[in-house]
Amino acid sequence: MTSALKQAADEFLVRYGGDVFPNLFTSAKGTIVTDSDGRDYLDFTSGQMCATIGHNHPAIVAAVERAGKKAFHLFSGMIPEVVAELAQVLATDWLPGDIRRSIFINTGSEATEVALRMAKMYTGGYEVLVLGGSWHGITGGAAAVSMASDRKGYGVPPPGVFVIPEPNAYRPYIAKGSEDESALANLELALKMFDMQSSGRGAAIIAEPVISAGGVLVPPKAFMKALRKAADERGMLLIFDEAQTAFGRIGKKTGSEYFGVVPDIMTMSKTLGGGLPLAAVSTTEAIESKLHDDHFTYYTSHVSDPLLAEVGLAVLRVITEEKLVARANEMGAYLRGRFEGLQQKYEQIGDIRGMGLLLGVELVSDRNSRRPAHQLGGLTTKKCFEYGLSMNIRRRPERGSVWRIAPPLTVSTEEIDHAVEILDRALRESLD
Ligand code: PMP
Repeated sequence: MTSALKQAADEFLVRYGGDVFPNLFTSAKGTIVTDSDGRDYLDFTSGQMCATIGHNHPAIVAAVERAGKKAFHLFSGMIPEVVAELAQVLATDWLPGDIRRSIFINTGSEATEVALRMAKMYTGGYEVLVLGGSWHGITGGAAAVSMASDRKGYGVPPPGVFVIPEPNAYRPYIAKGSEDESALANLELALKMFDMQSSGRGAAIIAEPVISAGGVLVPPKAFMKALRKAADERGMLLIFDEAQTAFGRIGKKTGSEYFGVVPDIMTMSKTLGGGLPLAAVSTTEAIESKLHDDHFTYYTSHVSDPLLAEVGLAVLRVITEEKLVARANEMGAYLRGRFEGLQQKYEQIGDIRGMGLLLGVELVSDRNSRRPAHQLGGLTTKKCFEYGLSMNIRRRPERGSVWRIAPPLTVSTEEIDHAVEILDRALRESLD
């Protein structure tokens, strides 16, 4: 059965790139995913950052059952009660400042499309400033503002996208004094270039609070505040893409809360659906009102989906009841401590960074040269998988090889210890 299905996978699936593992998988629970040979793996990617409350949490299973007994899909114009409830919970308990109105759709890419559509319609502009190393999605508009990977296979991006060099304290583009000064100097130059070349029709600045795919980079607070100011001064909207940072992963409710900066539009996905495709875009009353007056439309087959909303509500309840925001800090500190221990041992662990349970560990050939250790990154990640640890490596040719370590917030210290043991072994063997 297993090998027949493996053959079917080899024969009938489109090979979609990225890190596709050789095995097929059958089930997942908590931090563990299991393959069809019955082997368990610690999932330190949280299922591409979605299983923040752990895989197949009983509350999600119950929510799916509950929704299945009611209506799990309706005509797009019929707003299910549970969608109104989710919008209220988001606004009341999670969204920052005066952000309160939400639309519920399916993926992070789609959320970016919605946010860009809103910003372009609201401002009447079309130009967008993005951070280097950003990832906002794979669809047309979202891919156009994503800089973390090269563009082979993407087609030609539309014009009007300007890049701000991402803050990176370990590899600054322009090194100048403190981390803040360096980040601000890069921003100032990018804005100067933008102002010289802009058509004057700017729509938005879009940023991830932690630049995750680009190497788990946490910008200085002063940088995010400066983005807010830059958007205001140019009549552009500030969009925060909180696909990964919202709902506890970084030990705060949102990235916005950490930076003390309220954007105009916020996108959320991944965690919100706990593994099901639910995303949200939220904005202020004032922006929503103007968009509505201007006949804003975003009408899809799965907008306001009741099953997904039921799951989203369950996920938010679990995060609150199990106090997972605080847990992200607690377990994050433990995980970081264990990596600092490994760093004592390995010259190749150049930098450890991140927040809560979103950590980046940068691999270098040696700490003096800081030369990216791409091969080592690839080899150890493969070995980790062989020994039962699923981990993500982010590789950008000039910008380094970085493990992104992001287990579910429900991870135990024993699971962390086990993962670190595997990593230690994989590193040791790769260096032999
Ligand atoms: N924004 C960010 C910050 C992301 O990390 C991702 C996914 N990696 C996306 C948007 C796109 O989300 P999706 O893959 O659900 O379309």
